[in-house]
Amino acid sequence: MWSAQAHMPTVLAGSQTVIVKGDGAYIVTADGQRLLDAAGGLWYANVGHGREEIAEAAAAQLRTLETWHIFGRYANQPALDLANKIATLAPFEDAKVIFTSGGSDSVDMALKLARRHWQLQGQPEKLTVVSRNDSYHGLHAYGTSVAGLSFNRDGFGPGTLIPETLLIDQWDIEAAERTIRAHGGEKIAALITEPVMGVGGVVPPPAGYFERIKELAKEFGFLIIADEVVTAFGRLGTWTASERFNLEPDMITFAKGITSGYLPLGGVIVAPSVSRQFYEGADAPILHQGLTYSGHATVAAVGLKNLEIIEREGLLAHVRDLEPILAEELEGLRSHPGVKAVRHIGLMGGVDLADDVAGLAVVAELERHGVHLRNLPNNILQISPPFIITENELRLIVGSIRAALDTVLAS
Ligand code: PMP
Repeated sequence: MWSAQAHMPTVLAGSQTVIVKGDGAYIVTADGQRLLDAAGGLWYANVGHGREEIAEAAAAQLRTLETWHIFGRYANQPALDLANKIATLAPFEDAKVIFTSGGSDSVDMALKLARRHWQLQGQPEKLTVVSRNDSYHGLHAYGTSVAGLSFNRDGFGPGTLIPETLLIDQWDIEAAERTIRAHGGEKIAALITEPVMGVGGVVPPPAGYFERIKELAKEFGFLIIADEVVTAFGRLGTWTASERFNLEPDMITFAKGITSGYLPLGGVIVAPSVSRQFYEGADAPILHQGLTYSGHATVAAVGLKNLEIIEREGLLAHVRDLEPILAEELEGLRSHPGVKAVRHIGLMGGVDLADDVAGLAVVAELERHGVHLRNLPNNILQISPPFIITENELRLIVGSIRAALDTVLAS
């Protein structure tokens, strides 16, 4: 297997860790070590691992009808039900849901739809997609083209894969505005933004940031796409981060949290500002979207069960209760000599490690403490545990980071 984002000679030299079991907030390695999953896998294991009722929901659907596609006049009931359910959770009325197979799919879908929108609206010059430095939007062609992390964007020959893109400063809204004006704001089709930057280091927006983005979108007439692949379905204690920040996007991309990772699923929630033209009138155009597994029946059944669990167990409220605990714990870490900065919001935390501290060494030491964490690019620890984690376990994660840092600094 060619591992993802991996230096293969190192992997083949024996550094591979095989995970064989999941149980609530814990995972088990092939050599039998039980680890607290403080990263929630890749930010997906929101309801926790090993849920019997999700396995049952998948098995029941597989036995009835593994899937039927949703092309043209065909549909399957779980896909219809899940789309309707997601629409009720969206931060705008009359939401339409396009299904894909994951986050990168959803980004490419949303960005193509933004361009299609302006072609249909008689403004063919609106082609540019704006994204932010350090952002992550998946690794398909369009997501790569708008990548804000340069190592994901570089190395594909001159320019980018899709040429009409524009990077703006991560959070300095004045600098961003200057870049947009210099480019010609009227040429912009859409701005794509993670409400809280994830892979780029868990960076929440400064106060008032999205208000200014909305003003710019209004002034130049571009769409706002919230990339909520990490944040949708509860990571910030609200169904969407757009709701929490009153972002009022035209589209929301989602993936991970819709199934808590039990099966691959993604999609785009589309506001009427974009969808209406495809839904009304005999001469409404067809949007040429759709992947073989869009709206896969078994995947959708799992998504429905996952949302049911989040509601039944009150997990959004639990995340809101945990938010101040994580904040308190991480603030206590701020003065540690191995730490440069800490950031936190909802059940997301980032710890910038000091330059002389190797993140990989900290992660390895944490495993000895029974905690699995991820080291993001730029030497940042990612904390994003399953929503079901307890207050004590959350405190244990940060306490273990402190102990691991002490050990690494002393070595
Ligand atoms: N957008 C964001 C904000 C993400 O964090 C990710 C995945 N980490 C993606 C898109 C891509 O999703 P996937 O890996 O499911 O294609």
